[in-house]
Amino acid sequence: MASNTTNQAADAGEPEQQTEPESALETARRQLERAAIHLDLNANVIERLKHPMKVQRVSIPLEHDDGHVEVFTGYRAQHDSVRGPFKGGMRYHPAVTEDECIGLSMWMTWKCAVMDLPFGGAKGGIVINPKSLSDGEKERLTRRFAQELRDVIGPMHDIPAPDMGTDARAMSWFMDAYSMLEGETTPGVVTGKPPVIGGSYGREDAPGRSVAIIAREACDYYGYPLEETTVAVQGFGSVGANAAHLLDEWGAAVVAVSDVNGAAYDPSGLEIDSIPTHEEEPEAVTKYADETISNEELVELAVDMLIPAAVGNVLTEDNAGDVRADIIVEGANGPTTFAADAIFEERNVPVIPDILANAGGVTVSYFEWLQDINRRAWQLERVNEELEREMLTAWEAVREEVNTREISWRDAAYVVALSRLAKAHEARGLWP
Ligand code: NAD
Repeated sequence: MASNTTNQAADAGEPEQQTEPESALETARRQLERAAIHLDLNANVIERLKHPMKVQRVSIPLEHDDGHVEVFTGYRAQHDSVRGPFKGGMRYHPAVTEDECIGLSMWMTWKCAVMDLPFGGAKGGIVINPKSLSDGEKERLTRRFAQELRDVIGPMHDIPAPDMGTDARAMSWFMDAYSMLEGETTPGVVTGKPPVIGGSYGREDAPGRSVAIIAREACDYYGYPLEETTVAVQGFGSVGANAAHLLDEWGAAVVAVSDVNGAAYDPSGLEIDSIPTHEEEPEAVTKYADETISNEELVELAVDMLIPAAVGNVLTEDNAGDVRADIIVEGANGPTTFAADAIFEERNVPVIPDILANAGGVTVSYFEWLQDINRRAWQLERVNEELEREMLTAWEAVREEVNTREISWRDAAYVVALSRLAKAHEARGLWP
C-alpha cells in the first residue's frame, strides 16, 4: 500500500517515504473496491464505507514560550463505528492533511475488523513539526487539542493513541486534560499511556511480537521449520528489533538486521542480543558488526524470509524482481508498493500484509482499553497469551480465505475485514 506520509506510528502506523503518487485515501478506497470484487456484497454498504462518518476540523491556538500565539489546524477523521467505538492514532507532522486522516482512518477500520476487535477506524493529527516545539509547548498544544476534540472523543466513542510525533507522554497529557474536563479520571479515553496511569504492559513490544507470531505461522504453513529458516529484517526499531529477538529465540537464523545506516550481516546467523536496539543506542546496528551490507542489498538477500520493518515503499517495481526471499512478512506499514505487490503475486512470492502482521499494536491497545474500563490491570503474561490467541485466530481466518478463494494474503485479509463490516452494517441497517 503506498501512501504519501513520512515515518512511523503506533496503533496502526502508516506508510512513509513516497515513491508512488497514491494518497492514503486512494489506497484505502482501492483496497475496498478490490476486496468487494471477491464478495457478493450489498452495494449500498460499500457506498457507505467509502466515506468517513465525520471529520472534525479544529483550530488550536498555541502560546509559544516567547509569548507569541500561533494557530495550528488539527483533524479527527472518524470512518466507521458499526462494530464499536472509533480507534486510531493522532500524529503531529507537517504533512498531515484532512484527506490523509480520512484514508488512514479507513485503514484502521480494516485493521480492527481483520483482528475482529470491537472498534471502528479513526485517525487524527495536527499540522505541525513537533521537533520545533519545547516540551512545554507540546504539552499546551496537546491539552488544547484534547479540549477541542472533547465532544467527539471518549472511552465509548473514540479512543486516540500515539502515532508519528506523539508518544506515551503526549497520551498522558491528553488523558489528564480530558479527565480534568470530565471531572473524573478517565484512562480509557486514550491508549498507549504509561502503565502507571492505566497503560498496558506489553504494548510497546506488541507490534513486533505479532510480526514474529505471523512469521512463525507463515513458516509453518509453507513448510519451513523455524530452526532451518533464514530471516532478514529491515529496521531495528520497535517493530524490527522485537520481531528479530523473538524469531532468534524461537530458533530461526536472523542473518541480517538494519537501521538507516545499513545492515549487519552474518550468513550463519547474527548474535541478535549483542546488537543495540534503537532505544539502547540509536542507529548503531552497523557500529559493532563484523560484516555490513546496504539496506538495498539486505532486501535482495537469498533468505527464506524477508521482514521489511523500517519504513514504507521499500519494495517497489524497481527491486521486486530482484528480491530473493521466499516469503515476505510486512512489519512496517505499507512497505510494498502496489506495483511491487503485482510482481510478487506473479512470481508466487507470498506477502503477508501489514494489517494482519503488525496488528499486535492495536490489539494490545484494545487490551489496554479493556483494562481501563474494567479498572483491572493484567500481568504481562496474560497480555502476551491473549495476543498470541488473537493473532492465531486472525491468521486462521485469513488463511481460510487464501485457501478457499485462492487469492493473495493481502486480498484475503481485506476480504475478512470487509465481510465482517458488511455483515455488521446489514444487521444494524440504515437509520432512519
Ligand atoms: P522505530 O522508529 O522504532 O524504528 C525504525 C527503524 O527503521 C530504525 O532502526 C531506523 O534506523 C530504521 N530506518 C529508518 N529509516 C530507514 C530506511 N530508510 N532504511 C532502513 N532502515 C530505516 O519505528 P517502529 O515503531 O519500529 O516502526 C517501524 C514501522 O512499523 C513503521 O512503518 C511503523 O509505521 C510501523 N508500525 C509501528 C508500530 C508501533 O507501534 N511502533 C505499530 C504498527 C506499525
